[in-house]
Amino acid sequence: MSETTVRIQDDLYQAVNGEWLKTAVIPEDKPFTGGFADLDRDVEKTMMADFRSFAEGEKTIDIPEMRYAVALYKKVLDTKRRNAEGVSPVLPLLEMIRSIKTVNELNAAAVDLYLRGVSLPVQMDVDTDMQDTSRNSFGIQGPDIILPDTAYYAEDNPAGKQLLAVYADMAAKVLAYTPLTAEEQKTFLDDTLAFDALIAKKVKSRLEWSEYYKCYNPMPTDEVAGYAAPFDVKKFLENVYGDKAPETLIVYDPKAIREMSGYFSEETFLLYIHWAYVRTLLRSTACLSEELFALGRTYTRQLMGVAADPALEKQAYLMASQAYAEPAGVYYGRTYFGEEAKKDVVELVKKIIETYKLRIERNTFLSPSTKEQAIRKLSAIVIKMGYPDEVKEIWTKLKFEEGDSLLEAMNRIAAVRRKDMLEKLFKPVDRTEWLMPGHMVNACYDPMRNDITFPAAILQKPFYSLHQSVSENLGGIGTVIGHEISHAFDNNGAKFDEHGNLKNWWTEEDFKAFEALTKEMIEQFDGIEFHGGKVNGELVVSENIADNGGMGVTLEIMHTLDKPDYQAYFINNARVWCMKAKEEYIQLMLANDVHSPHELRANICPRNFPEWYEAFGVTENDGMYIVPDKRISIW
Ligand SMILES: [Zn+2]
Repeated sequence: MSETTVRIQDDLYQAVNGEWLKTAVIPEDKPFTGGFADLDRDVEKTMMADFRSFAEGEKTIDIPEMRYAVALYKKVLDTKRRNAEGVSPVLPLLEMIRSIKTVNELNAAAVDLYLRGVSLPVQMDVDTDMQDTSRNSFGIQGPDIILPDTAYYAEDNPAGKQLLAVYADMAAKVLAYTPLTAEEQKTFLDDTLAFDALIAKKVKSRLEWSEYYKCYNPMPTDEVAGYAAPFDVKKFLENVYGDKAPETLIVYDPKAIREMSGYFSEETFLLYIHWAYVRTLLRSTACLSEELFALGRTYTRQLMGVAADPALEKQAYLMASQAYAEPAGVYYGRTYFGEEAKKDVVELVKKIIETYKLRIERNTFLSPSTKEQAIRKLSAIVIKMGYPDEVKEIWTKLKFEEGDSLLEAMNRIAAVRRKDMLEKLFKPVDRTEWLMPGHMVNACYDPMRNDITFPAAILQKPFYSLHQSVSENLGGIGTVIGHEISHAFDNNGAKFDEHGNLKNWWTEEDFKAFEALTKEMIEQFDGIEFHGGKVNGELVVSENIADNGGMGVTLEIMHTLDKPDYQAYFINNARVWCMKAKEEYIQLMLANDVHSPHELRANICPRNFPEWYEAFGVTENDGMYIVPDKRISIW
């Protein structure tokens, strides 16, 4: 047997991860393994053991909200009851949907349906107002479709047809459990597919959603109501808010709303009812019998390329820790995250922000006034590290009755959350809210709060360890921190100011220069072949700008170290991107995800920096070489 022959200079990702990739086995119930997924699996294992101890009374629960999480966990495990009840817990809600015979009746029941989680002809929510992030506003958009993106509905998209066939087959089997006659079952299913195809012609594609600042389209409520009729938006608002109904709505998806008559009208009303019925039924299977749970996951398994569902105990943990995400995250953080690590990483974030400022000052494409604004934005970034100090009030309200079926409990929790969200319309934005719980292996930047969140769960090896070298930590968590900060200045984030308000702080000329660099970044990735598909450079540009910025700023810090180890830096960076995935999942991500495939994130980004060439003596004869004038550095 020969040793691995891949040279680091030709393919960093393969050279670092190749041996592992050869033998790694993707768990049956997961679409991928390695890197992020390994940490995720470890967190899951730890937390599952704790949930088990809580449920069995071996461990006392000192976070009150966790009591409900554990009670919900037990409900999932109670398969005796779930299996005995079968489909029955969802039947009253299905009957309610089916009994709606006219659009007027739909309008009268809309708020009730909304709180019960039934999809209406429009989606509505209350969220931070992009232009004035101190307050909330009421937003509206078209419904979600069955397939992952509108592009799957194109005539020449074989994946779309295949997925719809799997969905239809699954839906037919689940519908057979309902009291509908065989003929009705067929009509309901046909109508569901027909209605979804109509919606798909109007709603935004993934690519359009990726430019999220374009979601901000204030429109008078009267105008929206005119487009949405016969669905009565004004009545919905009046039923929720009385005489305080908002006079302006934020339309996230203007085409879907303006052309709503293309999918929802008196003529398509029945298609809608059947679509709502089928979607409610399928969504509910997650909380019904084991048989229905497995059946209802068929489409997801196909989409992700996974062979099996999570084992019952894992299902129970996942459902409970998602429904009570913040309490579970606070528990995880308090139990497993050390103060020493927290202090250390906060220091690192501060250092990265300060270094970012230096780089902005030195930057050659910005004028002094734009630089000043950018630095002001950097100074205002709020750091959320590990987990919140306390559980927010909303989580204490998520209660259910002891006698509830699993579905009733989940619906009750969801209704409280929806009600709370609607009530936020008249409350100021709470900037201390966390967007990610402590047990999540991820990190994020919130453009509207101008803050960054690093859950405790990501602050582990290979990303971060007090026992790793500083160079390794910079190549790991350092690049992630730099990445999240760079989102403040990616093609979306650049539109928001230091308070998170959608406001132009650029001179026209500076923004043009930035757009030219953005275009270069689109081209650097666009069309790269990957597993038989191609990267869409435009879809992934914001994340690539962030990766590029994250690497630039951390390499800058490397220069200030006493003994920088550039090789260790790049090797650990390639390690964090290590991933082996199911082919179906790779294709799904390639078509829909705003992130580039991990392998490319590891292999393209370093080529833009001179340190890469010096660290490994990379020359024009090597695979990971690009000519100097094609190298991009934006931030
Ligand atoms: Zn990102």
